[in-house]
Amino acid sequence: MMRFGPSGFCEEFLKEHKHTEEMPSWITSHGLDAYEYAFNKGIHLSDEKAEKLKKLFDDKNIEVSVHGPYYINLANPDDMMAEKSKMYIISSLQKMKLLGAKKLVIHPGSLTKNTREVAFDLVMKRMSELRILLDEFGMNDMYVCPETMGKHGQIGTVEEIAKICALDERYIPTLDFGHINAYGLGSLKTEEDFENVFMTLKKYMGERYKKVHIHFSKVMYGEKGELKHLDFDSDEEGYGPDFEPLAKVLKKLGIEGNVICESRGNQTKDAQSMQKIFSKLID
Ligand SMILES: [Zn+2]
Repeated sequence: MMRFGPSGFCEEFLKEHKHTEEMPSWITSHGLDAYEYAFNKGIHLSDEKAEKLKKLFDDKNIEVSVHGPYYINLANPDDMMAEKSKMYIISSLQKMKLLGAKKLVIHPGSLTKNTREVAFDLVMKRMSELRILLDEFGMNDMYVCPETMGKHGQIGTVEEIAKICALDERYIPTLDFGHINAYGLGSLKTEEDFENVFMTLKKYMGERYKKVHIHFSKVMYGEKGELKHLDFDSDEEGYGPDFEPLAKVLKKLGIEGNVICESRGNQTKDAQSMQKIFSKLID
């Protein structure tokens, strides 16, 4: 099953609302069934509010995922700082249990002054160590979802994410197709291009490749990859990817997961149009 929904607050929502408590009804009234809550700038959510939101989202049968703090960097050359990043992941998961969310999206890390190889080895080492913390803190039914990234200075190619996720069943890939396309300077055009993304996962993860978390939006790019997220009606022509070929591949391979729309400003509307494209294929 695929669920569709927005990340954060779109412009339309903000015209008449300002609280997350109003989001579950908003999502249902738009025929959607997923939402991504943001801990981007930190875990600023009280236990009380998390529990209240869980009830509201559960009542509407909306599956909530969480985007982890941007300051997590598992490629940090400093072990102490990397230790802190691991603990931000644990504290995010603890709050998510109250919120009723099971999938935590994280950006693996930035290269900073390291070569790509050294930075990636550090991420692999820390993600491997994180498994022990997940055991210690009783996180066996929670998922950490490292994301494919759009900038060349970040860890997060499809192959890197596949290798990280192969470490543990609690690791599920977040495929951000706008990022993948931006990183490859427009590499996603045909159905085959999209299918190859899943085949790379399969190579390292086996049949577990069918369970993913998806971010989708059009992303503008330059020679170093991602510049900014666009929406489907954007005037900036020529920046993909298109959702249609991906929808066909999702159906063909029987992929399961949520499609979260990260269009700039128009996330709800664009999530609806993707849902429409996908459901037409099913019929
Ligand atoms: Zn992200």
